[in-house]
Amino acid sequence: MLLTITYSGHPGTDLGYLLHKSPSRIHTVELAFGRAHVFYPEATANRCTAALAMEIDPIGLVRNRRGPSGEGRSLEQYVNDRPYTASSFLSVAIARTFNTAMSGKSKERQALADSPLPLEAHIAVVPCRGGEGLLRKLFEPLGYELSAAQLPLDEKFPEWGASRYFAVTLKARVRLKDLLTHLYVLLPVLDDDKHYWVGDDEVEKLLRHGEDWLQGHPERELIARRYLRHQKHLVNDALEQLLGEEEPAADELAEARTREEEQIERTISLADQRIGAVVAALRGVGAKRVLDLGCGEGRLLRELLKDRQFAEIVGMDVSHRSLEIAARKLRMDDLPTMQKDRISLIHGSLTYRDKRLAGYDAATVVEVIEHQDPPRLAAFERVLFEFARPQTVVTTTPNVEYNVKFETLAAGSMRHRDHRFEWTRSEFQAWAASICARFGYAARFLPIGPEDAALGSPTQMAIFTRA
Ligand code: SAH
Repeated sequence: MLLTITYSGHPGTDLGYLLHKSPSRIHTVELAFGRAHVFYPEATANRCTAALAMEIDPIGLVRNRRGPSGEGRSLEQYVNDRPYTASSFLSVAIARTFNTAMSGKSKERQALADSPLPLEAHIAVVPCRGGEGLLRKLFEPLGYELSAAQLPLDEKFPEWGASRYFAVTLKARVRLKDLLTHLYVLLPVLDDDKHYWVGDDEVEKLLRHGEDWLQGHPERELIARRYLRHQKHLVNDALEQLLGEEEPAADELAEARTREEEQIERTISLADQRIGAVVAALRGVGAKRVLDLGCGEGRLLRELLKDRQFAEIVGMDVSHRSLEIAARKLRMDDLPTMQKDRISLIHGSLTYRDKRLAGYDAATVVEVIEHQDPPRLAAFERVLFEFARPQTVVTTTPNVEYNVKFETLAAGSMRHRDHRFEWTRSEFQAWAASICARFGYAARFLPIGPEDAALGSPTQMAIFTRA
């Protein structure tokens, strides 16, 4: 299998610095399934070509059970196209041999690594389920000029027709990093048969390598689906992280359930008291830049906007629909510039580490934690308290002890059908204590709503302060 990358800048031999492989010799890397060699068939001042040739050991593949899917097809295990075509094996070889270049770093030529360069990649044999049309749909939106020649099934027997393999040339002015990550992600997508087990870290790899371009790609769903080998929960995870392609039906359901919860709590207009308490807590700590995580339809955001102390307000939610409703209710489009500059809505999930959340004075998490599955709650804890790490975190959650006081709530049920749990006061305090111990925060607790001597208040609030 052969991939070549040609740089036609000046001096061409800078490609060696960019790939961290000197043009003057052959570099060989041992891989689990064979070997990859990098060498330069051409290295002049005007043009330089690096070649990555990959040898795959089909016997080794069988031994390591990495061969093509479909056990029991014994001959195919030994005789298959893998040694000759661009597949996820080539992606692994690219990542191993051009690791530093893929991360966009260059010790000697950083400015060049950061610049779009005249590059051309040629891949000798690309298996393509979906034909030339798919090749174009994948590469052209990324700015490549693509030429593809479909290879005959057998040169000696032209009457057998064409194969599903293409010789592909891609040309563009892109950063080398972009070219490599595009190939890394898209070659297995074209092949649609990944050789190794697809696990959760594949989602992370896809998002990391697709960071700069996948979100805006018109075929992002097909890319995620095929890259993650059609494993629905992984694909959903990835899309949710990219931009939250949530089922609209699920959103509508959530909305209806929010109304139900409001009905149950209405008698004491608990929602208003909750927001009042949270705003007071934020004022009390002098927070200026505030995140509202799981902002829902933006009730807290609206109150924050009224107080100029809050100079920067960001609402985040995993539900697109909630964000749309929030934008409408806040009249985001009609706000005067001064106000508009203070507030933004972002889509994201609390259970994924997110750079955008770093550096805030305070974060509020109002009636959100009880919506998390317990294993996800652990992820959320790290995202918020370990990585985002605001000075203050204000969080509220129902106090389940109080539920017996709600006339319209059947005994033993939770306030919202989407709640995964509702905690007693001591459960909430134990959770908070473990957060403090693990992440270096101190917590104090305040009741929200009318207090019952035995049962406490309907909502419980914790204010965490970073030590
Ligand atoms: N804080 C708002 C909304 C509470 S309802 C209020 O008090 O009115 C819970 C909200 O959390 C919903 O809008 C839901 O979409 C959001 N949510 C649930 N899990 C989330 C997650 N993992 N990341 C971001 N938002 C989430």
